[in-house]
Amino acid sequence: MDIAFIGLGNMGGGMALNLARAGHDVRAFDLAPAALARAEAGGCRIASSAAAAADGAAAIVTMLPAGGAVASTVRALLPALAPDTLLIDCSTIDVATARAVAAEAGAAGHVLVDAPVSGGIAAAQAGTLTFMVGGEAAGFARAAPILRAMGKAVIHAGEAGAGQAAKICNNMILGATMIATCEALALAVRLGLDPATFYEIASKASGQSWSLTAYCPLPGVGPESPADRGYEGGFAAALMLKDLKLALAAAQGVDAAVPMGAAAAALYQSFTNAGGGGKDFSAILGLLDGRLPG
Ligand code: NAD
Repeated sequence: MDIAFIGLGNMGGGMALNLARAGHDVRAFDLAPAALARAEAGGCRIASSAAAAADGAAAIVTMLPAGGAVASTVRALLPALAPDTLLIDCSTIDVATARAVAAEAGAAGHVLVDAPVSGGIAAAQAGTLTFMVGGEAAGFARAAPILRAMGKAVIHAGEAGAGQAAKICNNMILGATMIATCEALALAVRLGLDPATFYEIASKASGQSWSLTAYCPLPGVGPESPADRGYEGGFAAALMLKDLKLALAAAQGVDAAVPMGAAAAALYQSFTNAGGGGKDFSAILGLLDGRLPG
């Protein structure tokens, strides 16, 4: 299938290559020349603009930093697309923009689904992302085979915007549980517990969570995680803060109480203000207890 891929950064770069590996004819575009060069080396064809990438494509995938870039890119493309083109936005953006661009695409005779991902850069490269998809059933059915070439799970979350809603709710759990896990590990250490022993207990008891057992924030404890690599190469704290802010804004819009999400956002804001935004989000351990790494 002829697929346009717009946004070849940390995530989109790997995803576009997986579509090419699956046999699709991928026309790739990014504002950054270095990203284009990597895509070309990986088997994509390079386009000189988003419009050139989208020209004649049966599907268009976007993986962009934020809602503003998605809205302006989609709005610029819509008038020139072939009838009934499928647009798949995999970026993490606000629910309101996701719904607005889906409605505009629909009004122009196209189908747009929001399909944000869970899983970081390694999963994007390995093709093991989880996609949560918002849009009508027919759009989901068309998008799913394309997404399966880039992921291990493709789940229909509901109508337009539901993928983004699921993504920010999931990451609000993740942000809060990471902070709770860091706090508990720091307290355990101060109370004189051996961290590995406490890990063994909590991972088999009711304190177990993904943040503890798949992504332990303390180096040398549990399976290998970014903590064992100096907090490099995982999910950046700045991106966690972005997702928490999206969750807070969405919560405000529907009058939902999210005190833990708000507390997590405030702590990640302090951490990024202190220069930690580029580190893996588990490095917040060091903010909570200055005697520990992070
Ligand atoms: P990134 O900054 O590495 O990549 C974004 C790319 O988009 C850049 O290469 C940039 O040049 C390009 N770009 C920006 N505006 C553009 C435009 N108008 N036209 C064409 N290209 C444009 O970001 P990333 O880490 O790849 O994240 C992309 C999206 O995925 C974000 O919405 C992010 O929240 C989400 N996400 C990231 C991760 C992660 O671990 N990095 C995990 C899950 C979801």
